[in-house]
Amino acid sequence: MKIEKLVRKNVLDLNPYSSARNEFSGQGYIQLDANENPFESAYNRYPDPFQTKLKAKIAEYKKLSPENLILGNGSDELIDLFIRAFCEPGIDNVVGLKPSYGMYEVTCRINNIAYNKVALNDDFELDPAIVLNQIDADTKIVFLCSPNNPTGNTLNQSDVQQIIENFSGIVVIDEAYIDFADQVSWSSSLSKYSNLVILQTFSKYYGLAGIRLGMAWCSKDMVDIINKIKPPYNVNELTQQTALNLLSEPPNLLDYKDFNTKERRKLSEGLIALDMVEKVYPSQANFILVKVSNANKIYSFLKSENIIVRNRTNEFGCENCLRISIGTEIQNETLLKKLKVYEKSLVY
Ligand SMILES: *Cc1c(COP(=O)(O)O)cnc(C)c1O
Repeated sequence: MKIEKLVRKNVLDLNPYSSARNEFSGQGYIQLDANENPFESAYNRYPDPFQTKLKAKIAEYKKLSPENLILGNGSDELIDLFIRAFCEPGIDNVVGLKPSYGMYEVTCRINNIAYNKVALNDDFELDPAIVLNQIDADTKIVFLCSPNNPTGNTLNQSDVQQIIENFSGIVVIDEAYIDFADQVSWSSSLSKYSNLVILQTFSKYYGLAGIRLGMAWCSKDMVDIINKIKPPYNVNELTQQTALNLLSEPPNLLDYKDFNTKERRKLSEGLIALDMVEKVYPSQANFILVKVSNANKIYSFLKSENIIVRNRTNEFGCENCLRISIGTEIQNETLLKKLKVYEKSLVY
C-alpha cells in the first residue's frame, strides 16, 4: 500500500505546526521557550506532544512497538484524525456497518464525507462480499468494530481478513471491547498488513473513561501522517500521568475479565428467563443486547426505578432492543429484581 496515494494532498503537502516542545525537549535547562508560568509545579509545563514515556510503557504492556502507536483524546479523536487525514471532503467516502458505533457516521458527516453503511445479517454477522461490493474508487476507509457496539458479537476473523486483503484502502478495526473477548486482537497482524489500523481505548476495560485516552496501532507511515495533523498537546499531562500510574502496577485486570464473563453469563441467564425477553444476543463485550417485548416501555419503567440502560430500538436491526452494561453484582441483581416485579405487574 502506497500511503501517498491515500492521504489527502493538502495533508501530504502540509508543514505541521512546530510547538515549543517539538523543537526542544530536555531537562535541567532554564526553559524560556513556551511562555509557561516559570514557578515549577506538577503541571506548569506543557506535556510531551509525542507522549514518549507513556507510549513506551503501553507498548511494553501490549508487547507491540511504540513506533506503531498514536495516542488521542479518546479513540473518538483518533476516528476524526484518520478521517481528516485520508478523506477529501465532498469527494471521498467511508464504508461502515449497520448497526455499529455511531461516531464513525457522525464524524464523517461533520467532515462532509459520505458514509455508506452495509447491513449485518440477522445474527449481526458480516458478509465480506457485500462490503467489498460497496467499496468504490473513492472509498478510503472501512470501519469495522469487533466486538461490535451495540450488538456485542465479534466479527468472524476470516470475514475481516477478506476485507483487509481485498481492499487497497485503510481498514480500521475498532477494538474498544477486545479485552473482554475470547478472540485475540488484530494487533498481532499489524506487520502483515500495512493498511490495518487498530483502535483501542482506556475507557472500558481499564476503567479510565474520564481521562480520555485512546490508542491507534498502525504502520509507521500512518503514524507520521497522523502526527502531522494532530493537535500538538492532544493528550494532557494529567492523562499521561494517570495512565503511567495504572501501567506501573497493572491492577488485577484479568480478574475484571473473569468477573465480566461470569456476570455477563448470570445476567444473560436471568434475562432470558423473563417472559418479556425475546432474545439475549451472544456478547463478547461488557454489555449485552437484549430484544424485549416493548423496549420503550421497559426503558421508561427502569428509568422510573432509577436504572438507566441504553434504548437502541431505533437503530437498524435493533427493534425493541436494549443495550445493558454489565454492572456490579448488586447492580445486576437489582436490575433483574426490578424486571421481575415489572413482569408480575403486567399479568394483571
Ligand atoms: C466506547 C467506544 C469507543 C470510545 O472510545 P473513547 O476512547 O472513550 O473515545 C470507541 N469505539 C467504540 C466501539 C466504543 O464503544
